[in-house]
Amino acid sequence: MIKSINPATGETLKTYEALSPEGLEDKLQASADTFRTFRSRGMMDTRLQALERLAILLRDRKEELGRLITDEMGKPIKQAIAEIEKSASCCDYYAKNAKTILKNEEIQTEHDASYVRWLPIGPVLAVMPWNFPFWQVIRFAAPALAAGNTALLKHASNVPQCAMKLEELFREADFPRHAFQTLLIPSSDVAKVIEDDRVKGVTLTGSEPAGRSVAEIAGKMIKPSVLELGGADPFIIMRSADLKAAVETAVKARTMNTGQSCIAAKRFIVHKAVYLDFLDKFSEAIMALKAGNPAEEDTDIGPLATASIRDELTEQVETSLSEGATLVVRGSVPEGEGNWYPATVLTDIPASAPAAKEEMFGPVASIFRVENIDEAIELANATRFGLGSAAWTQDEDEQKRFIDELDAGFTAINGMTSSDPRLPFGGVKASGYGRELSGLGMRAFLNAKTVTVD
Ligand code: NAP
Repeated sequence: MIKSINPATGETLKTYEALSPEGLEDKLQASADTFRTFRSRGMMDTRLQALERLAILLRDRKEELGRLITDEMGKPIKQAIAEIEKSASCCDYYAKNAKTILKNEEIQTEHDASYVRWLPIGPVLAVMPWNFPFWQVIRFAAPALAAGNTALLKHASNVPQCAMKLEELFREADFPRHAFQTLLIPSSDVAKVIEDDRVKGVTLTGSEPAGRSVAEIAGKMIKPSVLELGGADPFIIMRSADLKAAVETAVKARTMNTGQSCIAAKRFIVHKAVYLDFLDKFSEAIMALKAGNPAEEDTDIGPLATASIRDELTEQVETSLSEGATLVVRGSVPEGEGNWYPATVLTDIPASAPAAKEEMFGPVASIFRVENIDEAIELANATRFGLGSAAWTQDEDEQKRFIDELDAGFTAINGMTSSDPRLPFGGVKASGYGRELSGLGMRAFLNAKTVTVD
C-alpha cells in the first residue's frame, strides 16, 4: 500500500495499491511499443508541440498543482507554485531548443560527409525524490521526450498523488498515451525494471545509498545511468564580501524548501574578519523566519516531508551537540501533529560531528570560522560530496581560486547554486555523475551515432 500523508497534520490523504507484476509488464511493453513510432525524427514537431501544451497546462493550473505539492510533502505554498512555474519554463526551453541541440554535428574528414547524429535509445527509467516532486521529474522528462525516448517514472513513495498527476498532465498535453507512465512500485522493484531488456537507461535523483544500488545494477546490465545525489554544499564568505547581500542569500540558500534541497548551502565557511558580524546577522534573520502552516502565503518554514527525515535530523543535531557543537539559536515551530523541526544554527562543530561531515536535510546551518582562503578551500573540499558551492568575495584572485579549486559540479560567485534549464546541472564525488538540463543533459540518454557517407 502506498500512502499520501499530509506532513503538516499527519492525515492520510489517499492510498494506492502498488502495481501488480502483470500491471508492470503491461506498462513496460507499452513503453517499448510506443517508442517504435515516437522515436522518429518525423515526430519531432508533434513532440515539441506537446511540450508547449504541457507548459501551458502547468501555468494554467499552477495554484492547484502547487497546493497538491504543499499537501503531500509540506513545501510552503509560494515555493510550490514557483516550482510549477519553473517546470513550465523547462518545457519551454526544450520545446524551443531541442532542434538546435539535436542538430547533426558535422566533422570534416576525407569522407563525402561525416557527422554525429543524436538518436533516442528507448524507454528510460527515472527514479525520483519527493523534495521537488514536479521539477525533478520534468527536468528529466522534458528533454527525454523531446528527443524521442519514452519515460517510466518511479517516484518517491510519499508523493504518489504528484506521480499520478504528472502522468495525467502528459496525456492531457497530447503526448501518446504511453510515452510517459508512472509506475507505482516500491524501491525493491527498481532492480527488475533496470534489468528488463526493454529499459535502456536509468536516472536517479536521491540519496547516496539509492545511487550506489542503481549504479551497480545499471553497470552490471551495461546501461547508461545518471546519478544526482546528495550534497553538503559550502557557502564561503570572505572579508571583501557584500555582507548584507551574502546574509540574505545565505538564509534563502539554507532554508528554501525547509532545508530539504540537495543544493542547499549547508556549511557556511566564514573568514575570521567578518565571522562575528555574519553570525549575528545570519542568526537574527533565521529567527525572523515564520514557521507554520505551509498552505499560508507568508510561511517560510514548513514541516519536514516525513517523520523519518525529522527523526534523522534530530539525531544528527543531538549527536553534534553531544560531540561539542554550540547551539547558537533555535526557532520555534507549531505544537502538535506534523513533522516540525525548528530552524537551527550551530557553531564550534568538531570535524567528526554529523553537522560537519554528513548531509543535513532540514533547516540546520553549520557555521565554521577560517583564517584564510587556503583553509576555506580545504574545509569546503573536506566532504565526500561535491554538488554545488558558493563563494562571496569581490577579490578577483580569490574568485579564480574558488572557481578552479572547489571540488563541485557548480560554483556560484556572489550568489547561490540553483538549477536552470539553460545550464548543466550535476555533481562530482559522491554527489553523482552525469549532467541534467541544457544540451549536455539532453544528450545523457542519446546515442551519439557516428555516420560516414561516401
Ligand atoms: P531516497 O530515499 O534515495 O529516494 C529517492 C528515490 O529513490 C525514491 O524514489 C526512492 O523510492 C528510491 N530508492 C530508495 N532506495 C532505493 C534503492 N535502494 N534502489 C532503488 N531506488 C531506491 O532519497 P530521498 O530521501 O527521497 O531524497 C533526498 C535525497 O535526494 C537527498 O540526499 C538529496 O540531496 C538528494 N537529491 C539530490 C538532487 C540532485 O539533483 N543532486 C536533487 C534532489 C534530491 P522510495 O521512496 O519508494 O523509497
